Amino acid sequence: MSSMGESAAPLGGSVASSQGGPWLPRRWIRGTLWIVAYVLLAAFPLLLLLTGPVPRGGGWAWDFAMALGFAGLAIMGLQFVLTARFRRATAPFGIDIVYYFHRWAALGGFGLIVAHYLILRLRHPAALGSADPRNAEWPMTAGRVALALFAVLIVTSLGRKALRLEYDRWRVGHAVMAVMAVALAGWHIRGAGHYTAETWRGALWTGYTALWLGVLGYIRVLKPLRLLRSPYRVIEVRAERGRAWTLTLQPMREPMPEFRPGQFAWLSLGRSPFRAGEHPFSIASSTTLQPAVQFTIKELGDFTRTIRHTRTGTIAYLDGPHGVFTPDAWPQAPGFVFIAGGIGIAPIMSMLRTLADRGDRRPLLLVFGNRRWDDVLFREEIEALASRLTLRVVHVLQEPPPDWRGATGILSPPVIRAALTPDVANGVCFLCGPKPMNDSVQHTLRGLGVPLSRIQCELFDMV
Ligand SMILES: Cc1cc2nc3c(=O)[nH]c(=O)nc-3n(C[C@H](O)[C@H](O)[C@H](O)COP(=O)(O)OP(=O)(O)OC[C@H]3O[C@@H](n4cnc5c(N)ncnc54)[C@H](O)[C@@H]3O)c2cc1C
Repeated sequence: MSSMGESAAPLGGSVASSQGGPWLPRRWIRGTLWIVAYVLLAAFPLLLLLTGPVPRGGGWAWDFAMALGFAGLAIMGLQFVLTARFRRATAPFGIDIVYYFHRWAALGGFGLIVAHYLILRLRHPAALGSADPRNAEWPMTAGRVALALFAVLIVTSLGRKALRLEYDRWRVGHAVMAVMAVALAGWHIRGAGHYTAETWRGALWTGYTALWLGVLGYIRVLKPLRLLRSPYRVIEVRAERGRAWTLTLQPMREPMPEFRPGQFAWLSLGRSPFRAGEHPFSIASSTTLQPAVQFTIKELGDFTRTIRHTRTGTIAYLDGPHGVFTPDAWPQAPGFVFIAGGIGIAPIMSMLRTLADRGDRRPLLLVFGNRRWDDVLFREEIEALASRLTLRVVHVLQEPPPDWRGATGILSPPVIRAALTPDVANGVCFLCGPKPMNDSVQHTLRGLGVPLSRIQCELFDMV
């Protein structure tokens, strides 16, 4: 995943100069400010409880349980903000880090809500009333259903692959359940009325929950409406080696903001950006090809297997560019090391193509792991790029042909160690491949003394 590395430039909505500048403090300052904003928003309900007279008679366990409930729901409500893909907010960290945080925040928020319920059950069982919905007050039933929905959300998210839930269906269900759970929990708090009975507290709490609804409206309505203004058209569908396809897209009107090599976009193919079926793909083309963009997509699952049937002329929408996996964040780097496995070459192709088009002469190393020689994506173009760049290429094959003289096997420590010659040893490393490959190569690089801040990873599996 992209680290908030020592030398990364600020990547925001617009493309900043690649000539350097005081980027280091800026990115850290922005990141810190967003973290402070998040903590303040998460703590807002607690501040609301502590401001003004605290209702009497509950005792510490009661007050503590209430505080946990408010904080837990605040964290759950802010989950909508975390997944809204606000480019300015995700830029200092990388969107993958924000998604990982989303996952952990869900566990934290759920833990607080469970603790809220358990403390009340143990110390104030009468306050919970009957568990039978026919006899219980509606807000208490709403709270119970919300708790159950939060539990289902956590289990189906952490266990999605084990439960074999198809991604797009899971995603729609996840969104619907999340909205229902947060709405029911909000109703529970307003209906139970503890700490929100006074008009001003009630109004503030309502305003606060309206923020989540506003973000939801932004994600589901405003953002697709904005995308509607900038449709793309597929102008070419090209077969590549290794069951991959390159789509070339041309904007029909306003293009998305300029991208940097290595960034990605969410692609939806079809007539409407309101449909749920968008998928993230790295932009594989050179930045100099803009406003056209190319994606190289490997057939792996339900959606990617349909790419080969895409007709030229199909309308597409792009939400992007996103990500901080880009050499442009490192204008002062003495060189770059690219380590890719299979389709992980896609963002790296954008980097190599762009660096070649810019006439960049810094030393570069590409270590590219594949199963078979025939499947090596872009192998002819990589060879051509090597002559335009100061680029050394090391191909590593798991099933080499009989006359193969190069490296074999996986991207193991000896292979990486042998490839990392002194001319590139101080370069910034970009890793993109399956998670086990990323983890193992990162471990090897750390063992070779490469600081974590110089290792940038992109995972093609965000959730
Ligand atoms: C930052 C990033 C860049 C990527 N770049 C490329 C690329 O350049 N080329 C390429 O071939 N692949 C790329 N991928 C992977 C690609 O997004 C998935 O392979 C694709 O979405 C799988 O969809 P599917 O329905 O074909 O497969 P499925 O079998 O349905 O999904 C396989 C796995 O892919 C993930 N996935 C599926 N749909 C989505 C989605 N809408 N959003 C996020 N994750 C999803 C899930 O973890 C799922 O389990 C990238 C992924 C990320 C996160």
